[in-house]
Amino acid sequence: MQITYVLELLEPTKRKQNIFFNNIAEVVKNRQAIADKLKAGETKLSSADFKEHNLPSAVKNQNIREVKVLFRLFEKSDSKKDNIDFKKNQPICYNNQNYKIDGHIISIPLYTSKCQRFAFPVKQTKRFKELQEHIENGSKLGKASLFYKRGKWYFAVSVDLPQEKNNNPNTMGIDIGLRQLAVASIKNSAGKEINRQFFNGKEAGFIRKKYRSLRRELGQAKKINSIRNINDKEQRWMTDLNHKISRRLVNLAVQEKVGIIVMEDLENIRQSAHSLNRADRNLHNWTFYQLQQFIEYKAELAGIKVKYINPKHTSQRCSKCGKVKKVNRKVNLYSCQCGNHIHSDLNASRNIAHLGQQSA
Ligand SMILES: [Zn+2]
Repeated sequence: MQITYVLELLEPTKRKQNIFFNNIAEVVKNRQAIADKLKAGETKLSSADFKEHNLPSAVKNQNIREVKVLFRLFEKSDSKKDNIDFKKNQPICYNNQNYKIDGHIISIPLYTSKCQRFAFPVKQTKRFKELQEHIENGSKLGKASLFYKRGKWYFAVSVDLPQEKNNNPNTMGIDIGLRQLAVASIKNSAGKEINRQFFNGKEAGFIRKKYRSLRRELGQAKKINSIRNINDKEQRWMTDLNHKISRRLVNLAVQEKVGIIVMEDLENIRQSAHSLNRADRNLHNWTFYQLQQFIEYKAELAGIKVKYINPKHTSQRCSKCGKVKKVNRKVNLYSCQCGNHIHSDLNASRNIAHLGQQSA
């Protein structure tokens, strides 16, 4: 499991702060140039392709790695923007070969008139002590980044910690959807459902409709900036909701002694999104993916394993007799000839839990 420690630096001198700001300005240019090359179809990139940017080559190489990931996500998102645009305040990123933590000093390369190493003392906090203990115990350090926020400088370091897996016997299957944002079915090791929970999507649907009609009005008035603001607002609202739902799901999993959470591999997005228009579908892909990411992250912190299964037929199969029949699934109801009449998303979450147990 990876944990990130955000360390505050003791206030650097004005001269060093200027060096930081200069390097950040170059990072912005460099990242933009990398994204432009990726957009143009150039994928084999190295620091030598960006001689015009005054940065240590370690930072350029790390930028290439990071922007490649961002670009892939950008392409997947079907954004209407032409390419990613980077905000002014980018972090300066390093991989674990490029920085050192020695006592309470971090040392990193920066560019002045040439590439140089600089040392910065870190504020002594409980968090920092904790990180130092992990280092002494042999934990591996990962990526790090230097960034500026509200007048302060921070160094964020990720560290790989050995996973402490719980050995709980129960399995939670989670179905993620539109009408019910999430439906969880918890089964014991004998395959019997011991609890279930619905996380209603009504409120989210209402908010979506509200923003959609706002967008339509503004679209007719061609107010592009206002539309962008509304999109941001809606995204923030959904992010907040996803945080809450994932927290409740993982708390429930802990309470019910769950060892594995099973979800669908949403690479092939669910059939239920078919009837939506394009803009909505993209938003959903994004929120589904984000909800899964949040669940995964919180589950791992709780020592719960997360597993993804192929979503094929999870909503069409009867969770009681196993028969696959498309017409059995109505909007909210799954109704099988064997006598199984339940909420269709609960039916799916039971199948998901079952598939996770089978392939355990
Ligand atoms: Zn059946």
